[in-house]
Amino acid sequence: MIIVRTNAALISVLDTARQQGKRIGFVPTMGALHPGHLSLLKSAQQLTDFTVCSIFVNPTQFNDPADLINYPRTEEQDCLYLKTANCDVVYLPSVDEIYPSNWEAPIFDFGSLALVMEGAHRPGHFKGMSQVVFRLLQLVQPNALFMGQKDLQQFAIVRRMLQLMNSTIELICCPIIREADGLAMSSRNVRLTAEERTLAPALFQYLKILQAPNLSLHYTTPNDYLKYVEMQLKAIPVIQLEYLQIVAVESLQDITHWNDAKAKAACIGVKLGKIRLIDNVLFN
Ligand code: AMP
Repeated sequence: MIIVRTNAALISVLDTARQQGKRIGFVPTMGALHPGHLSLLKSAQQLTDFTVCSIFVNPTQFNDPADLINYPRTEEQDCLYLKTANCDVVYLPSVDEIYPSNWEAPIFDFGSLALVMEGAHRPGHFKGMSQVVFRLLQLVQPNALFMGQKDLQQFAIVRRMLQLMNSTIELICCPIIREADGLAMSSRNVRLTAEERTLAPALFQYLKILQAPNLSLHYTTPNDYLKYVEMQLKAIPVIQLEYLQIVAVESLQDITHWNDAKAKAACIGVKLGKIRLIDNVLFN
């Protein structure tokens, strides 16, 4: 595995791979890698010939300065992990490599996609996220980009950004990898206290109800389900619910009847003590 820290070194390695006719698969991350990240790399290895994983904790997408400071950074361990998993290149840029003073950030209008859920609770987050993904794509120029369903709204926004850019990059959505008790793997999970960690699986426990058959027999409308779960979560004071919504997967806008959309998602964002967690399930 080649470790590169500069854009020049990255571009040189990628040029060589392209000259050999290799298709490039790209997995952008913020590090503190876990099996969820590794599953993206595995998909990239299955669908492309040369895999690049970036590790960059992007300051511009953190709306909470404490979250940026406390975000786990485990570079050495991450590199070992990627090497064992046969990643071809790991790209570890500095802030100056990503945002040189002469670089102009593009401005995208994502409309209502970016206004709901995470967009409503994390002002500026999607602006920062889309800019770093744009910048990384400029540098890596992959054939395929691998991102997780875990960040469903991020995925939808990147999909829209690629459309706005008229990009030919293939965008692949990888499923959520969970702990044995259902908690979605996240780099932030290590920051949960022992008590918070025991409560965290409640998120998926309530979301997975929606994947059961004959849903409408139990909950006549999405609102009936939402009211029920909101009441259950209120009984767990450590969990502060930020949002729980049932949306159409395409638009990410709320639905009021089960048959308002075929592909649906339930998305949740909570604060467990100081840690923000998000999760979602897809259902039809
Ligand atoms: P992050 O390092 O949190 O920015 O995540 C990098 C990529 O990994 C994003 O595309 C995430 O959606 C994806 N990801 C994060 N957690 C998981 C998980 N539990 N399962 C699958 N993919 C994940």
